[in-house]
Amino acid sequence: MGLYNRLLRSAALPVGAYAAGYREVLPYLQGLEASQWWTAEQLRDLQNRKLQRLIMHVYEHVPYYRELMQASGLRPADIQTTDDLVKLPIVDKHVLTGNYPDHIRDQSISQSELIAAGSSGSTGERLLYWTTKSQKAKKWAGLFRFWEMAGYHFGDRYATFTVSANRGLRNSPLLLRLEWGLLRHLWMPMIEITDANLETYARKLDAFRPVMLRSYASTAYYLALWMVRHGANVPIPAVITTGETLSPYMREVIEQAFAPGRVFVEYGGDGMQFAGECDHHQGYHLNAETSFLEVVRDGQRVPDGELGELVFTNLEATAVPFIRYNIHDVGILTHEPCGCGRGLPRLTHLEGRLTDLFVTQDGHWISVHHFTGLFGHMPSVNAFQVIQRQSDDVLIKLVVNDAFTDEDRQMILETFHRYLGSGTRLELEFVDDIPTTPSGKRRFFISQAIEHERQAGQPEQP
Ligand SMILES: [Zn+2]
Repeated sequence: MGLYNRLLRSAALPVGAYAAGYREVLPYLQGLEASQWWTAEQLRDLQNRKLQRLIMHVYEHVPYYRELMQASGLRPADIQTTDDLVKLPIVDKHVLTGNYPDHIRDQSISQSELIAAGSSGSTGERLLYWTTKSQKAKKWAGLFRFWEMAGYHFGDRYATFTVSANRGLRNSPLLLRLEWGLLRHLWMPMIEITDANLETYARKLDAFRPVMLRSYASTAYYLALWMVRHGANVPIPAVITTGETLSPYMREVIEQAFAPGRVFVEYGGDGMQFAGECDHHQGYHLNAETSFLEVVRDGQRVPDGELGELVFTNLEATAVPFIRYNIHDVGILTHEPCGCGRGLPRLTHLEGRLTDLFVTQDGHWISVHHFTGLFGHMPSVNAFQVIQRQSDDVLIKLVVNDAFTDEDRQMILETFHRYLGSGTRLELEFVDDIPTTPSGKRRFFISQAIEHERQAGQPEQP
């Protein structure tokens, strides 16, 4: 770490954080920097202690949990370890938003300290919840630890490529500019993906030469694809992708354009930072000091190594507790040690939203990223979106150029038939543009079939 980095870390970050009221970022970050090297057992003990504290607190101060536990005859002492969590029900955004604003909130926190938050959700269902500065500070500390894992240090040049400026720790435009200047941050607004825009961004990155680029997976992919096709590669030591699932093919293209072996996936959602990749690239280390993960299928925990839905318990959040919160992403958990030596468990697979999986006609889930490579290798396709309307009915929207041929069309149809079954009805639609979601994400695949299946199989919520 250079002198400038050390100065920034010891001066600028605390000053900025203090000015904005986020005093806890640095001490919490220092804790995380140490505890990532703890043994699995030490981390489990920490989780159990934090869980006991959390359960005691929500029993006392959150009406929803007090009533729920009393109705089922549970006392806080009945939940001593993360194994005992199964005594509580799994919740999701339905439940939290349904009990918002008062029934699910921590009554011990004064209204003036609560910050209203929400997420739009790509399926249109909104999550509404309360948070606090302390909770946000812990999330930011988790993020910073992960950036450090990817090789970034405070003060290194970095660039972000998102739909709106990340306001980070500050709410004042002046502080924000100061932060960006000190932290040497280039923000590129993600607007329409056109050849002219991509060329501008490639030029800016080449001039700025950041140590780290942070971007939605699809945006980084489209930029990288343009750069590779135009021989305009820019070396960047770390590329962090967020927000969307990164397929192996997308990773390959991004590495080719920027950073061989240096693409890192950051995984978070609904106001939490869950996991990130270390430089061994063998999955995503969980932020285990802040949240506990269970993997479930049909409401039951599955063993390590099996695919299921990700259910998180945020061990720090009480403003609105996230206890056994099903975020409806799908992945695989492992406690096997990682080559880097960190004791943090890992997600070995992260398949993104359940709606990023397609369902085959015989009822299996398959990752939609079987298909990203197909389109990536087809220079005549500029953009695409695939919607599985029913398990046997798929709409493929394509933005193509003049090079598109009948052979391309045949290859697309054959590939989809091979994976989904030859009886699948395929409709090709040629469009001018693929719209982004309100939050700026570009969804390559939408599985309405899985969404129907999930809603049909969902148990009644209390
Ligand atoms: Zn590791």
